[in-house]
Amino acid sequence: MKDIFQVLKKKKLQSFFLFYILLLLPILTPLAENYSWMDKLLLVVVCLLLFMAISVICVFVSPRTEKIIYSVMLVFAIIPGSIFLSYLLFAHVMLEQNSVMSLFETNPEESKEFLANYMNVWVIVGTLAYAAVPIVMICRMKRYTPLKARFYKGHIIVSVLIIVAIVSLARVARSVYFINIYRTFITYKVRVHHEKKTIRARQSEPFDIRTIYADTIPQTIVVVIGESLTKDHMSLYGYQRKTNPLLEQYTDSFLLVYREVISPQVHTIPVMRAALSMAEPDYPEYFEERPSLIELYNRLGFETYMITNQAFSEKCHSSYDILLTLAKHKYNFAPKKQYDEIVFTAFDEIMESDKGKDKFILIHLIGSHMAYEYRYPYTFDTFDYEEDGLIEEKPFRKTKEKRMIDNYDNSVLYNDYIVDRMIRQLQEESPNAMLLYFSDHGEELYDYRKFAGHVYEKVSPPMCEVPFLLWMSSYFRDKRSGLVFDAYRPYSTGDFIYSMSDISGMRYEGFDSKRSIFSPDFEPKERFVDEKAYDDILERFDSNKR
Ligand SMILES: [Zn+2]
Repeated sequence: MKDIFQVLKKKKLQSFFLFYILLLLPILTPLAENYSWMDKLLLVVVCLLLFMAISVICVFVSPRTEKIIYSVMLVFAIIPGSIFLSYLLFAHVMLEQNSVMSLFETNPEESKEFLANYMNVWVIVGTLAYAAVPIVMICRMKRYTPLKARFYKGHIIVSVLIIVAIVSLARVARSVYFINIYRTFITYKVRVHHEKKTIRARQSEPFDIRTIYADTIPQTIVVVIGESLTKDHMSLYGYQRKTNPLLEQYTDSFLLVYREVISPQVHTIPVMRAALSMAEPDYPEYFEERPSLIELYNRLGFETYMITNQAFSEKCHSSYDILLTLAKHKYNFAPKKQYDEIVFTAFDEIMESDKGKDKFILIHLIGSHMAYEYRYPYTFDTFDYEEDGLIEEKPFRKTKEKRMIDNYDNSVLYNDYIVDRMIRQLQEESPNAMLLYFSDHGEELYDYRKFAGHVYEKVSPPMCEVPFLLWMSSYFRDKRSGLVFDAYRPYSTGDFIYSMSDISGMRYEGFDSKRSIFSPDFEPKERFVDEKAYDDILERFDSNKR
C-alpha cells in the first residue's frame, strides 16, 4: 500500500484530473435544493470509491495508457458534466432521473425550452472553461514509473470489482453522473424500440370492448390537450384579469369547471404518456400491455383523428408519438409554426366529413408554451400591466418579468378563444357531442422566486394545478344521467383514460371505474407529481407566499 501512495504522490496532476471529473459535481451538491442529505452523501461516497479504484489501477499502467484512459473519460464526461453543473450552479438543482431521460427525447420544443431556461452567455463561457481545464491537465501530466502489477493482485482485483459494481448496479450507477447518462440513454433507446414494436403488434390482436351508450345519432367526442396553462391565470378560476371572457359565458350546466385537478408530472412527454395510456408509476409495463386512448376508440369502431400543433413524428421521436400514430387520420401542423387557430383547417374538415360516423378527435395545442409572445396573433395583445395595474407586486417582479406575465396572459386569452370556438362549432353541428379540455401541466410565473416555467426539480403548485373543463351537449349529457358531475373531486390526469372510457360508456377488462372522475364509484386517492406527493408540494409552498 505504501508503494502505491508513493507513486500517487508523484502523480498529483493525475489525481487532480480524476478529482475534477469525478468529485467536483458531488462536492457541489450542497447547492442542490432538491436532494436530501442522504442522497448527497451517497453521491459523494460512490464517486469517492470510484476515484480511489481508478487511481489505484492507474498506478500499474504506463503513462501513455493512463493518458488514453483519461482522454476517454473526458470525452464521455464533459457534456453530461456541463449539463449537470449548469443546472446545479444556475438552478440549484441536481437533475433527477426522469429529467435525464427527457434529455434524450428529441422533441425540439422541449429542447428549446431547456435552452431557453438555462442557457445564457455565462453558461456557454463556463462550459468552455470547464472543458478546457482537464484538456490542459492531460497535456501537462508528467511521466512516472508504474508499479509491477503481479505483486499487487489483491489491490487490482478489489479496484476492478468496485468499478464493475458501480457501473453495473443501476441504483449505484445513478450516483456517477456520466455513467448514469449513458446507462439511461441505452435503457431509453431499448425501451422506446420495444414499445413501438409491441404497441403496433397488439393492434391486430383481438380485444373485447363494448359501449353502453351506443346511439343512432353519431357521437363526436373531442379531447383538447393544452400546453403550460396554469389555472391561476384563468379568470374562470378567479384570476383578476379577464382572461376567459368567452368561456365564462357558459352556464355551469353546460361547462363544468373542475377545481381540483393536477397533472401527474410537469413536463409534456411524461404527462402525455400517462394521460393517454394506462401506464402508472407501479406498472410502467401497462404502457405496452394495455390499450391506450386512441386504440380504445378505434376498437369501438369510431373514426379517430389526431390534430397536433406540437412536434410529432410517425417515426416516434417523442416517446408518446407512438400513441398518437394510432389515429386513423393525422394532421400535423407543427412544421408550419402557426398559431393554434391553424388546427381549425383540420377541425372544420373533420366536422364536415364522415357525418354518419362516431368520431373521436384528439387535439394537441401549442397553447401557452414558453416564449409566450409567439403564441398569439397581435389582435390578442391585450394586457398591459402599466395600464391595468393588475399584476401583483413582488420583489422579483421587475419590468421584464411583468411584461412576460402580460404576454402569458395574452396567450391565455387566445386559448380562451380557441376552445370557445371549438365548443360553438360542436354546438351548431353535432347534437351528440362533448369536449374535454385540460392542460398537460401548469406554469409558474414569478410566483415565489425569480423563475418562470415548469421544471420537475422545482415543482410548485402552479406547475401542476391544471384547468380541466368539460362541455357536453344537452342530448349527450341527458344520456349520461348515471354519471356524477362533481367539479370538486380531487383528481389527477394520470387516470384520464379511465374518465374518458367512463364517459364513453366503455366496458373492457382492465377498466377501473374508481379512477373515473365521472363515476359514482370514484374513490379519491393520494396524488403524486411523479415521485413527489402533491400534499407535500402544497405544504412546501405555503399558499400565503403566492
Ligand atoms: Zn408541456
